[in-house]
Amino acid sequence: MEGFVMKKSYFISSSNKDIKDDYELSKKLGDGAYGNVYLGTHKTTRQTCAIKQIPKSRIRNQARLETEIQVMKNADHPNIVKLYDVYEDARSIYLIMECCSGGELFNHIISKKRLSEKEAARLFKQALGSIRYLHSNDIVHRDLKPENLLLGDESEEALLKLCDFGLAKMLTNETESMMTKAGTPFYIAPEILKGQGYGKSCDLWSLGVILYILLSGYPPFYAKSEAGILEKVRNGNYNFSRPEWTNITDEAKDLISKLLVVDPQERLETEQAIEHPWLASYELLPTTPLELSVESLKEFRDGNRLRRAVLLCIASQCSDDEISNLRDAFIKMDTNGDGTLTINELREGLSQTGMAGEVESIMKSMDVDGNGSVDYSEFLAATLDKNIYLQEERLYSAFKKFDRDGSGKISASELREVLGAQEIEQNNEFWEELITEADVNGDGEIDFNEFLNIMTSKKVNKLTNLS
Ligand code: ADP
Repeated sequence: MEGFVMKKSYFISSSNKDIKDDYELSKKLGDGAYGNVYLGTHKTTRQTCAIKQIPKSRIRNQARLETEIQVMKNADHPNIVKLYDVYEDARSIYLIMECCSGGELFNHIISKKRLSEKEAARLFKQALGSIRYLHSNDIVHRDLKPENLLLGDESEEALLKLCDFGLAKMLTNETESMMTKAGTPFYIAPEILKGQGYGKSCDLWSLGVILYILLSGYPPFYAKSEAGILEKVRNGNYNFSRPEWTNITDEAKDLISKLLVVDPQERLETEQAIEHPWLASYELLPTTPLELSVESLKEFRDGNRLRRAVLLCIASQCSDDEISNLRDAFIKMDTNGDGTLTINELREGLSQTGMAGEVESIMKSMDVDGNGSVDYSEFLAATLDKNIYLQEERLYSAFKKFDRDGSGKISASELREVLGAQEIEQNNEFWEELITEADVNGDGEIDFNEFLNIMTSKKVNKLTNLS
């Protein structure tokens, strides 16, 4: 049984079902380069989402779309837009994503003209966190701009969410750099314009441009023509001379000037930027205590493997407003902001729940993908409240993810289809054993009642059931 892993990406499957069977599409949320994004509502769970419709006729580069989907499927960070599902019909591909009702950061800046340093620091730190996470997974975004940074909701404390991975690139090895000219003139890094190979540092340049705009309300490299803008970018020609900068602290300007450095070798990296004194000088999180349910944690640890898989499936499909307290707890516990919890971060967080002594066994159960740390969705799965995961519609929707052929029962081969991308290939007995753990009536499959039993933590014991 060793080596059994579960990943959030297992539950995001491409479905050839008609999207209209499951979702209602309503108002348009935004226009994209490929297609439009609509507000959607799931017909049974009533959960809202954003649906990006990409007409196949407009796909110029299939590999690029595949990378976009791949990056979103695997990304697991509170500041990255969650992908729930992918649908495909004859004409279009649909990406079902979490809905960020606060809209684009771009419009937020326009409506406020410019942000206070405190608000800018709060949002900028989140943007940096999402990029740090991508970079630590060897992914470069390459198209960072305020149109691709969305606000989770309309509140003052809304979380920033990075979207649009259409230009993202997975680096296959550390030293690899890229030669393609990608990006948008205002935010493009000089090394791209010069046709030199470039790597992760191009995202740091764009972050510098974004920070400049957040604080002043106008772009650092500005000219009447595109050629004029690009000339200024190439030379790193910008200044802080306009009156908007008079009352801005030197620390903020210092961070910008260490990001807008023409030579990528000299530019700050994400880890250094996160530790910059300007960001450290703001208390960016509320100081409320962590709200973690000891009961959920224990049940997760003591439950069987299928139960953990179902919880991971449900957690990765939850919307932010349902799990905002857990999301905030994760962000607080993740003290270095890299989007994963180490054992020390977990111990520190659990000390408030009186469970710090059991941190090792909890860590072991939470780390369902076995990578040695607790990822965001793993944390949500282990701490999710019963009020959320015991909602029947939600459980049914998770059940349907496993019941691939719609027979009303989950077979060993369906489990293998969903969870089968194991690092160590598992034999038939392995999958059958997982079924047996839940199969009360002994018919070799799991029906919805048996599925509910696992989730309500009722001990499954065939002998007592028969007597
Ligand atoms: P494209 O890759 O085709 O340019 P984007 O992914 O950038 O498309 O989406 C286009 C616009 O749609 C975004 O700038 C934003 O306004 C809106 N949008 C995209 N994703 C979401 C989302 N998850 N929630 C709310 N609005 C979104």
